[in-house]
Amino acid sequence: VIQIKRQNMTHMVQQVHNQDLVVTFLGQPQRNCSVIYLRIKGFFSDFDFGMDNESGFDDGMERAQEVTVNLTFNQAACGVNKELDLNLMVECGRCKGSKSEPGTSSSVCPSCQGSGMQSVNSGPFLMRSTCSRCGGSGRIIKNACHDCKGRGKVSQRKTIRVSIPAGVEDGQSLRVSLGERAVQELWVTVRVEKSKTFRRDGSDVHSDVNISLPLAALGGKLSVPGIYGDIAIDIPKGSCSHDRIRLPGKGIARMNSFGYGDHYLNIRIQPPKRLTDVQRALLLAMAEMDDLPAVINGVTMTTDGKQAIDDTDQFLLSQIRTVLKRYEITKSKSSSAESAEETRKKSKM
Ligand SMILES: [Zn+2]
Ligand SMILES: [Zn+2]
Repeated sequence: VIQIKRQNMTHMVQQVHNQDLVVTFLGQPQRNCSVIYLRIKGFFSDFDFGMDNESGFDDGMERAQEVTVNLTFNQAACGVNKELDLNLMVECGRCKGSKSEPGTSSSVCPSCQGSGMQSVNSGPFLMRSTCSRCGGSGRIIKNACHDCKGRGKVSQRKTIRVSIPAGVEDGQSLRVSLGERAVQELWVTVRVEKSKTFRRDGSDVHSDVNISLPLAALGGKLSVPGIYGDIAIDIPKGSCSHDRIRLPGKGIARMNSFGYGDHYLNIRIQPPKRLTDVQRALLLAMAEMDDLPAVINGVTMTTDGKQAIDDTDQFLLSQIRTVLKRYEITKSKSSSAESAEETRKKSKM
Protein backbone atom coordinates (compact mmCIF):
# COMPACT_ATOMS: atom_id res chain seq x y z
CA VAL A 1 0.00 0.00 0.00
CA ILE A 2 1.42 3.37 -0.97
CA GLN A 3 0.07 6.87 -0.63
CA ILE A 4 0.26 9.36 -3.46
CA LYS A 5 -0.73 13.00 -3.68
CA ARG A 6 -2.48 14.15 -6.79
CA GLN A 7 -4.54 17.28 -7.35
CA ASN A 8 -4.20 18.06 -3.63
CA MET A 9 -5.93 14.82 -2.68
CA THR A 10 -4.21 12.02 -0.90
CA HIS A 11 -5.05 8.65 -2.35
CA MET A 12 -4.21 5.38 -0.80
CA VAL A 13 -3.23 3.11 -3.64
CA GLN A 14 -3.39 -0.61 -3.22
CA GLN A 15 -2.51 -3.10 -5.88
CA VAL A 16 -5.15 -5.81 -6.08
CA HIS A 17 -4.63 -8.11 -9.02
CA ASN A 18 -2.50 -7.77 -12.11
CA GLN A 19 -2.31 -4.06 -12.71
CA ASP A 20 -5.62 -3.00 -11.25
CA LEU A 21 -5.30 -0.55 -8.42
CA VAL A 22 -7.71 0.39 -5.70
CA VAL A 23 -7.60 4.05 -4.83
CA THR A 24 -9.10 5.22 -1.57
CA PHE A 25 -9.74 8.93 -1.19
CA LEU A 26 -8.45 9.95 2.20
CA GLY A 27 -9.82 12.95 4.06
CA GLN A 28 -12.77 13.31 1.71
CA PRO A 29 -15.72 12.15 3.84
CA GLN A 30 -18.26 14.09 1.77
CA ARG A 31 -17.61 11.86 -1.20
CA ASN A 32 -19.90 8.91 -1.52
CA CYS A 33 -17.41 6.71 -3.20
CA SER A 34 -14.53 5.40 -1.23
CA VAL A 35 -13.18 2.93 -3.71
CA ILE A 36 -12.73 3.40 -7.39
CA TYR A 37 -10.97 1.32 -9.99
CA LEU A 38 -8.59 3.03 -12.28
CA ARG A 39 -6.50 2.05 -15.17
CA ILE A 40 -2.83 2.63 -14.98
CA LYS A 41 0.13 2.63 -17.27
CA GLY A 42 3.19 1.39 -15.46
CA PHE A 43 2.88 2.05 -11.78
CA PHE A 44 4.04 5.55 -11.01
CA SER A 45 3.35 7.15 -14.35
CA ASP A 46 0.35 9.31 -15.05
CA PHE A 47 -3.00 7.61 -14.79
CA ASP A 48 -6.57 8.60 -15.43
CA PHE A 49 -9.93 7.89 -13.87
CA GLY A 50 -11.39 7.37 -17.34
CA MET A 51 -14.34 5.03 -17.13
CA ASP A 52 -15.09 5.48 -20.80
CA ASN A 53 -11.69 4.86 -22.27
CA GLU A 54 -12.11 1.71 -24.32
CA SER A 55 -8.49 1.00 -25.07
CA GLY A 56 -6.86 -1.87 -23.24
CA PHE A 57 -4.25 -0.96 -20.67
CA ASP A 58 -1.92 -3.93 -20.86
CA ASP A 59 1.03 -2.32 -22.60
CA GLY A 60 3.41 -4.97 -21.27
CA MET A 61 4.82 -2.75 -18.51
CA GLU A 62 5.99 -4.36 -15.31
CA ARG A 63 5.58 -2.86 -11.88
CA ALA A 64 8.28 -0.24 -11.28
CA GLN A 65 11.22 -1.35 -9.22
CA GLU A 66 12.33 0.86 -6.35
CA VAL A 67 15.82 0.68 -4.88
CA THR A 68 17.50 2.67 -2.13
CA VAL A 69 21.03 4.03 -2.54
CA ASN A 70 23.07 5.26 0.42
CA LEU A 71 25.21 8.34 -0.19
CA THR A 72 27.69 10.29 1.89
CA PHE A 73 27.03 14.01 2.37
CA ASN A 74 29.70 14.88 -0.21
CA GLN A 75 28.43 12.36 -2.79
CA ALA A 76 24.98 13.96 -2.57
CA ALA A 77 26.44 17.46 -2.72
CA CYS A 78 28.80 16.85 -5.65
CA GLY A 79 26.98 14.07 -7.52
CA VAL A 80 28.24 10.51 -8.01
CA ASN A 81 27.99 7.55 -10.38
CA LYS A 82 26.65 4.38 -8.76
CA GLU A 83 26.54 0.87 -10.18
CA LEU A 84 23.56 -1.23 -9.15
CA ASP A 85 23.20 -4.99 -9.64
CA LEU A 86 19.51 -5.66 -10.16
CA ASN A 87 17.15 -8.33 -11.43
CA LEU A 88 15.18 -6.49 -14.08
CA MET A 89 12.38 -7.57 -16.40
CA VAL A 90 13.42 -7.15 -20.02
CA GLU A 91 11.68 -7.91 -23.30
CA CYS A 92 11.96 -11.59 -24.24
CA GLY A 93 14.57 -12.01 -26.96
CA ARG A 94 12.89 -15.09 -28.52
CA CYS A 95 9.39 -13.68 -29.14
CA LYS A 96 10.43 -9.99 -29.10
CA GLY A 97 7.69 -9.40 -26.54
CA SER A 98 4.88 -10.89 -28.69
CA LYS A 99 4.40 -13.77 -26.16
CA SER A 100 3.83 -16.24 -29.02
CA GLU A 101 6.34 -18.75 -30.40
CA PRO A 102 8.13 -17.29 -33.42
CA GLY A 103 6.08 -18.06 -36.54
CA THR A 104 2.76 -18.26 -34.67
CA SER A 105 0.34 -15.48 -33.81
CA SER A 106 -2.26 -14.64 -31.17
CA SER A 107 -5.98 -14.06 -31.69
CA VAL A 108 -8.44 -11.48 -30.35
CA CYS A 109 -9.96 -12.44 -26.96
CA PRO A 110 -13.62 -13.44 -27.54
CA SER A 111 -14.68 -12.42 -24.00
CA CYS A 112 -13.69 -8.77 -24.19
CA GLN A 113 -13.34 -8.39 -27.97
CA GLY A 114 -9.79 -7.21 -27.44
CA SER A 115 -10.53 -4.39 -24.99
CA GLY A 116 -8.96 -6.25 -22.06
CA MET A 117 -11.68 -4.95 -19.74
CA GLN A 118 -14.95 -6.29 -18.44
CA SER A 119 -17.73 -4.19 -16.89
CA VAL A 120 -19.77 -4.98 -13.79
CA ASN A 121 -22.73 -2.88 -12.59
CA SER A 122 -22.33 -2.13 -8.90
CA GLY A 123 -24.75 0.36 -7.32
CA PRO A 124 -24.17 3.87 -8.68
CA PHE A 125 -20.90 2.87 -10.28
CA LEU A 126 -19.98 1.01 -13.37
CA MET A 127 -17.03 -0.96 -12.13
CA ARG A 128 -14.50 -2.03 -14.67
CA SER A 129 -11.92 -4.67 -14.14
CA THR A 130 -9.39 -6.69 -16.09
CA CYS A 131 -10.79 -9.34 -18.43
CA SER A 132 -10.36 -12.61 -16.55
CA ARG A 133 -9.91 -14.65 -19.73
CA CYS A 134 -7.03 -12.77 -21.37
CA GLY A 135 -5.66 -11.07 -18.26
CA GLY A 136 -6.16 -7.63 -19.81
CA SER A 137 -4.03 -8.13 -22.90
CA GLY A 138 -7.07 -8.46 -25.20
CA ARG A 139 -5.44 -11.37 -26.99
CA ILE A 140 -5.36 -15.15 -26.56
CA ILE A 141 -2.00 -16.86 -27.03
CA LYS A 142 -2.26 -20.28 -28.69
CA ASN A 143 1.42 -21.21 -28.77
CA ALA A 144 3.18 -19.58 -25.84
CA CYS A 145 6.84 -18.66 -26.34
CA HIS A 146 9.11 -21.33 -24.81
CA ASP A 147 11.57 -18.90 -23.26
CA CYS A 148 9.15 -16.59 -21.44
CA LYS A 149 6.20 -18.99 -21.10
CA GLY A 150 4.00 -16.46 -22.88
CA ARG A 151 4.82 -13.50 -20.66
CA GLY A 152 6.73 -11.59 -23.34
CA LYS A 153 9.41 -10.65 -20.86
CA VAL A 154 12.12 -12.36 -18.84
CA SER A 155 14.02 -11.55 -15.66
CA GLN A 156 17.67 -10.67 -16.20
CA ARG A 157 20.53 -9.78 -13.86
CA LYS A 158 21.79 -6.39 -14.98
CA THR A 159 24.36 -3.86 -13.87
CA ILE A 160 22.81 -0.42 -14.11
CA ARG A 161 24.98 2.67 -14.01
CA VAL A 162 23.08 5.47 -12.34
CA SER A 163 24.47 8.98 -12.35
CA ILE A 164 23.17 10.73 -9.24
CA PRO A 165 23.03 14.48 -9.95
CA ALA A 166 24.71 16.95 -7.60
CA GLY A 167 22.35 18.41 -5.03
CA VAL A 168 20.05 15.46 -4.28
CA GLU A 169 18.52 15.50 -0.83
CA ASP A 170 17.74 12.71 1.60
CA GLY A 171 14.52 10.89 0.63
CA GLN A 172 14.38 12.13 -2.97
CA SER A 173 13.52 9.63 -5.70
CA LEU A 174 14.93 9.67 -9.21
CA ARG A 175 13.43 7.94 -12.22
CA VAL A 176 16.09 6.03 -14.11
CA SER A 177 15.65 5.31 -17.81
CA LEU A 178 16.41 1.68 -18.62
CA GLY A 179 16.49 2.03 -22.39
CA GLU A 180 14.10 1.31 -25.25
CA ARG A 181 13.63 -2.41 -24.62
CA ALA A 182 12.81 -1.85 -20.96
CA VAL A 183 9.46 -3.12 -19.76
CA GLN A 184 9.97 -1.66 -16.32
CA GLU A 185 10.65 1.64 -14.63
CA LEU A 186 13.40 2.02 -12.07
CA TRP A 187 13.12 4.48 -9.20
CA VAL A 188 16.16 5.20 -7.07
CA THR A 189 15.56 6.69 -3.63
CA VAL A 190 18.60 8.28 -2.02
CA ARG A 191 19.48 8.14 1.66
CA VAL A 192 22.04 10.79 2.57
CA GLU A 193 24.35 10.36 5.56
CA LYS A 194 24.75 13.32 7.91
CA SER A 195 28.10 15.13 7.82
CA LYS A 196 30.16 15.86 10.93
CA THR A 197 31.41 19.10 9.36
CA PHE A 198 28.59 20.44 7.22
CA ARG A 199 24.93 21.17 7.76
CA ARG A 200 22.66 21.64 4.79
CA ASP A 201 19.83 24.10 4.20
CA GLY A 202 18.57 23.53 0.66
CA SER A 203 21.50 24.46 -1.57
CA ASP A 204 23.26 26.40 1.21
CA VAL A 205 25.88 24.81 3.43
CA HIS A 206 26.75 25.81 6.99
CA SER A 207 29.82 24.90 9.03
CA ASP A 208 31.62 26.07 12.17
CA VAL A 209 35.12 27.59 12.27
CA ASN A 210 36.98 27.40 15.57
CA ILE A 211 39.44 30.27 15.98
CA SER A 212 41.84 31.22 18.78
CA LEU A 213 41.53 34.30 20.99
CA PRO A 214 44.52 36.10 19.35
CA LEU A 215 43.21 35.31 15.83
CA ALA A 216 39.79 36.70 16.75
CA ALA A 217 41.29 39.88 18.19
CA LEU A 218 44.02 40.52 15.61
CA GLY A 219 42.43 38.95 12.51
CA GLY A 220 44.31 36.85 9.95
CA LYS A 221 44.03 34.10 7.37
CA LEU A 222 42.84 30.54 7.80
CA SER A 223 42.14 27.47 5.66
CA VAL A 224 38.76 25.80 6.23
CA PRO A 225 37.18 22.68 4.69
CA GLY A 226 34.66 23.40 1.92
CA ILE A 227 32.56 20.79 0.12
CA TYR A 228 34.78 21.05 -2.99
CA GLY A 229 38.08 21.28 -1.06
CA ASP A 230 39.83 23.61 1.37
CA ILE A 231 39.04 27.33 1.16
CA ALA A 232 41.39 30.14 2.30
CA ILE A 233 39.46 32.75 4.26
CA ASP A 234 40.21 36.08 5.96
CA ILE A 235 39.20 36.43 9.59
CA PRO A 236 38.50 40.14 10.22
CA LYS A 237 40.12 41.62 13.33
CA GLY A 238 37.72 41.86 16.27
CA SER A 239 35.69 38.83 15.15
CA CYS A 240 33.11 37.55 17.62
CA SER A 241 31.62 34.12 18.16
CA HIS A 242 28.57 33.59 15.87
CA ASP A 243 29.82 36.18 13.37
CA ARG A 244 28.97 34.80 9.95
CA ILE A 245 31.20 34.74 6.89
CA ARG A 246 29.41 34.19 3.57
CA LEU A 247 31.22 32.40 0.76
CA PRO A 248 29.04 33.02 -2.32
CA GLY A 249 28.67 30.12 -4.77
CA LYS A 250 30.57 27.69 -2.54
CA GLY A 251 27.39 25.78 -1.65
CA ILE A 252 25.57 22.96 -3.44
CA ALA A 253 24.34 23.01 -7.07
CA ARG A 254 20.67 24.06 -7.22
CA MET A 255 18.50 21.17 -8.44
CA ASN A 256 15.62 23.27 -9.79
CA SER A 257 17.47 26.33 -11.11
CA PHE A 258 20.91 27.47 -12.18
CA GLY A 259 23.93 28.19 -10.05
CA TYR A 260 25.10 27.19 -6.63
CA GLY A 261 24.08 27.97 -3.08
CA ASP A 262 26.37 29.71 -0.57
CA HIS A 263 28.61 28.40 2.18
CA TYR A 264 28.17 30.13 5.54
CA LEU A 265 30.88 29.92 8.18
CA ASN A 266 29.89 30.34 11.81
CA ILE A 267 32.81 31.66 13.87
CA ARG A 268 33.44 30.13 17.27
CA ILE A 269 36.17 31.59 19.49
CA GLN A 270 37.90 28.87 21.44
CA PRO A 271 40.00 30.09 24.38
CA PRO A 272 42.74 27.70 25.51
CA LYS A 273 41.29 25.08 27.87
CA ARG A 274 44.51 24.59 29.85
CA LEU A 275 46.73 27.64 30.33
CA THR A 276 50.51 27.52 30.46
CA ASP A 277 52.19 29.77 33.07
CA VAL A 278 53.10 32.25 30.33
CA GLN A 279 49.56 32.35 28.89
CA ARG A 280 48.12 32.80 32.37
CA ALA A 281 50.49 35.67 33.23
CA LEU A 282 49.81 37.42 29.90
CA LEU A 283 46.04 37.03 30.28
CA LEU A 284 46.11 38.32 33.87
CA ALA A 285 48.11 41.35 32.73
CA MET A 286 45.46 41.93 30.07
CA ALA A 287 42.67 41.34 32.58
CA GLU A 288 44.02 44.24 34.64
CA MET A 289 43.27 46.53 31.68
CA ASP A 290 39.81 45.04 31.14
CA ASP A 291 37.05 47.63 31.41
CA LEU A 292 34.06 45.30 31.35
CA PRO A 293 32.03 45.40 34.59
CA ALA A 294 32.96 41.86 35.56
CA VAL A 295 35.06 40.26 38.24
CA ILE A 296 37.74 38.15 36.55
CA ASN A 297 39.18 35.27 38.57
CA GLY A 298 42.57 36.26 40.02
CA VAL A 299 41.84 39.99 39.70
CA THR A 300 40.29 42.14 42.42
CA MET A 301 38.40 45.38 42.02
CA THR A 302 39.89 48.33 43.95
CA THR A 303 37.70 50.91 45.69
CA ASP A 304 38.16 53.38 42.81
CA GLY A 305 36.76 50.77 40.36
CA LYS A 306 40.11 49.69 38.88
CA GLN A 307 41.28 46.11 38.41
CA ALA A 308 44.28 45.05 40.46
CA ILE A 309 46.29 41.86 40.75
CA ASP A 310 48.23 40.67 43.71
CA ASP A 311 51.48 39.56 42.03
CA THR A 312 53.20 38.29 45.18
CA ASP A 313 54.76 34.90 44.33
CA GLN A 314 53.98 35.50 40.64
CA PHE A 315 57.41 36.23 39.22
CA LEU A 316 56.44 36.26 35.54
CA LEU A 317 53.43 38.51 36.13
CA SER A 318 55.39 41.00 38.24
CA GLN A 319 58.04 41.13 35.47
CA ILE A 320 55.36 41.84 32.84
CA ARG A 321 53.85 44.56 35.03
CA THR A 322 57.26 46.16 35.54
CA VAL A 323 57.83 46.24 31.78
CA LEU A 324 54.34 47.64 31.18
CA LYS A 325 54.81 50.33 33.88
CA ARG A 326 58.16 51.34 32.35
CA TYR A 327 56.48 51.55 28.92
CA GLU A 328 53.70 53.76 30.32
CA ILE A 329 56.24 56.16 31.87
CA THR A 330 58.28 56.39 28.64
CA LYS A 331 55.11 56.98 26.63
CA SER A 332 53.81 59.77 28.90
CA LYS A 333 57.28 61.42 28.96
CA SER A 334 57.57 61.44 25.18
CA SER A 335 54.01 62.67 24.71
CA SER A 336 54.55 65.54 27.20
CA ALA A 337 57.82 66.35 25.41
CA GLU A 338 55.94 66.35 22.11
CA SER A 339 53.24 68.65 23.42
CA ALA A 340 55.94 70.98 24.82
CA GLU A 341 57.51 71.04 21.35
CA GLU A 342 54.10 71.82 19.83
CA THR A 343 53.58 74.75 22.23
CA ARG A 344 57.08 76.05 21.45
CA LYS A 345 56.38 75.90 17.68
CA LYS A 346 53.04 77.65 18.08
CA SER A 347 54.49 80.49 20.19
CA LYS A 348 57.19 81.06 17.53
CA MET A 349 54.59 81.59 14.80
ZN1 LIG B 1 9.14 -14.95 -25.30
ZN1 LIG C 1 -10.24 -10.61 -22.80
